Amino acid sequence: MTEERSLNFIEEIVEEDIREGKNGGRVLTRFPPEPNGYLHIGHAKSICLNFGLAKEYGGKTNLRFDDTNPVKEDVEYVDSIKEDVRWLGFEWANELYASDYFDQLYEFAVKLIKKGLAYVDDSSPEEIAAQKGTPTEPGKGNEYRNRSVEENLRLFAEMKDGKYPDGAKVLRAKIDLASPNMHLRDPLMYRIKHANHHRTGDKWCIYPMYDFAHGESDAIEQITHSVCTLEFIPHRPLYDWFIEQLEIFPSKQYEFARLNLNYTVMSKRKLLQLVNDGYVDGWDDPRMPTISGLRRRGYTPASIRDFCERIGVAKRENMIEMALLESCIREDLNKTAWRRMAVLDPIKLIVTDYPEDKTETFHGENNPEVEGGDGSREFPFSRELWIEREDFMEEPPKKFFRLAVGNMVRLKSAYIVKCEGFAKDTAGNITEVHCTHIPESQSGNDTSGLTVKGTIHWVSVRHAKTAEVRLYDRLFQVEDPSSEDGDFKDYINPDSLHIIPNAYIEPDLVNAVPGKGYQFIRKGYFTLDKNSTAEKLVFNRTVTLKDGWVKK
Ligand code: ATP
Ligand code: MG
Repeated sequence: MTEERSLNFIEEIVEEDIREGKNGGRVLTRFPPEPNGYLHIGHAKSICLNFGLAKEYGGKTNLRFDDTNPVKEDVEYVDSIKEDVRWLGFEWANELYASDYFDQLYEFAVKLIKKGLAYVDDSSPEEIAAQKGTPTEPGKGNEYRNRSVEENLRLFAEMKDGKYPDGAKVLRAKIDLASPNMHLRDPLMYRIKHANHHRTGDKWCIYPMYDFAHGESDAIEQITHSVCTLEFIPHRPLYDWFIEQLEIFPSKQYEFARLNLNYTVMSKRKLLQLVNDGYVDGWDDPRMPTISGLRRRGYTPASIRDFCERIGVAKRENMIEMALLESCIREDLNKTAWRRMAVLDPIKLIVTDYPEDKTETFHGENNPEVEGGDGSREFPFSRELWIEREDFMEEPPKKFFRLAVGNMVRLKSAYIVKCEGFAKDTAGNITEVHCTHIPESQSGNDTSGLTVKGTIHWVSVRHAKTAEVRLYDRLFQVEDPSSEDGDFKDYINPDSLHIIPNAYIEPDLVNAVPGKGYQFIRKGYFTLDKNSTAEKLVFNRTVTLKDGWVKK
C-alpha cells in the first residue's frame, strides 16, 4: 500500500485472510463479464477492484467470460471486452470461459442428483413460480420432487441428449421450499435451450443457470475472493450450499456497491437499446458510458482508474456525479494535453497596419504545466486572422476585456492589437473586425510597456486548416433516467451532440494522433475521432475546461 487512504472493507478481508494463512496466502480474483454487450464504466470499477486487489497482494486475476446464455452472446463482445480491459492497463493471468466447464458442471449436477439433492421437474415456468410461494408463505412441493435418483439420472441424461424441447423440463436443486430466502426454494440449475453457442456450437442443448455456473466456475479455478455487486447478497447462501454439497474448493463471495452515475444509464440491456434504436452511433459513441465510448471521447485509462480510486468501494449504493468523472479527465489532460489554437465560431480580424504579403512564425509551448516543458510548436501569423465571434462586441458591457472599438487585447503568443472599427453586411451582421498592432509588444520580447487584461486565441486565415468539431453534452436530461416514469429513452437529451462542420485550426493540428489529448485554448479538451481522415479531420470534445453544466 503506497496510498495514504485507509483500506476498503474488501482489502481488510483480504489482509485478514493473508494474516490467517488462508489459501496459503494466495490471492486469486476474477473479472467475470457476460459477453452480451460492451463494458461500461461500472465494469471499470469492478475491473479496477479485482485486478487492483491482485496487484496489491501479489496475486493474479482471471478474465472469465460468463457465457452460459447462448442466445445473447457473441464473439464481437468477447473481443471488445479484452481490448477494453487491456486498454485500462490490466493483464489477466488466464483467459477462461464458463463454457469450457460445461462437461465438469454436468458432472457436478450428476453428483448432486446422486446425493438426492437435485431433481428433474416437468412443471412450466408459471407452475414453478406459483409453487414457490411468497416471501411470507412457504412454497409447495410437487410430484416431481419425489422422483428417484435413477429416474432423475435418466431424465437429466435425456435432457442433455436433446430428447425434449425447450422448456419441457428443468433440473432443480432440492434444498428447502420453506426457506425465508427465495433463492433456496429449489432453484433452477439447468434449462433446455436448443441454441447455437458461440464457442460450444451445437454440442449442448442444456445450459447451466448463473447461480449454478458461477460459484462452481470460481471453485474450479480456485478463486479465493469472488467479488460481485450487492444484488448477489441473497444468492450467497446458495453459492455456499453448492460448494459445500459438491465438496469442492471453497471460494468465497464478497459484495460491494455497484457504480451508479447520474445523467446516464448503465445496464447493457439499455445501452443495447440505444444502439439498436439508433439514438447513438454504436457502442463506442462518445456519449456512451462504455469504456470504448469514453476512449473515443478522449478519456485516458489513467483518468478512469483515478475515478475508480476516488469513488472507493462501498457497501451501500449511491449515485456518483458525472462531474466527478469529468474532473478526473480534466485534471489528467491539464497535465498531458498539448495546447493548440482553434476557432470554432469564426469572424475575421484584419490587422490593417500589417503588410499583406508578410508572414511571421511564432511559437507556443505544448504544455506549460509540465515541469521542464513538453516541447513547443510553431504557428504562422499574418494580416488576416480568424478569431471567435464572441471575442468582439459592438456594444460591450462594462468589464468586457476582449475586443470592442477602442479596446486592446493580446493575441495569444503574438502581438497586442487595438480595435479600431468593424464592418457589417447589408443584413447588419458583423463581418470583420479591424485592428492595428503594437509592433514592440511581441510575446516573449515585449518592450511596449503596455498591460492588457484580455488574451484571445486566433488562427491565420491563409494558413488555417479546417476540421469538423463535435461538441457533446449529457446523453440524458434527468439525473436518473431509469427511475423516471415511462421509458428511459423519453429522457434523452435532444441536444447531446452539436456539430461544427468547419472550425479553423492551427496548421500543426494536422499532425494530431488518436488517443492524444489537445487543449484547444479557452475551448476545452479535444481528441481526434477514430474516423478522422487526412481529408476530413474530426475532433471530439472530451470535456470543457470548466464545469459548465447547468441543471435544467
Ligand atoms: P449490466 O447489468 O450492466 O448488464 P452485468 O452485471 O449484467 O451488468 P456482467 O457482465 O455480468 O454485467 O458483469 C461483470 C462484472 O461487472 C460483474 O462482477 C458485475 O457485478 C460487475 N458490474 C456490472 N455492473 C457494475 C456496476 N455498475 N458497478 C460495479 N460493478 C459492476
Ligand atoms: Mg449479468
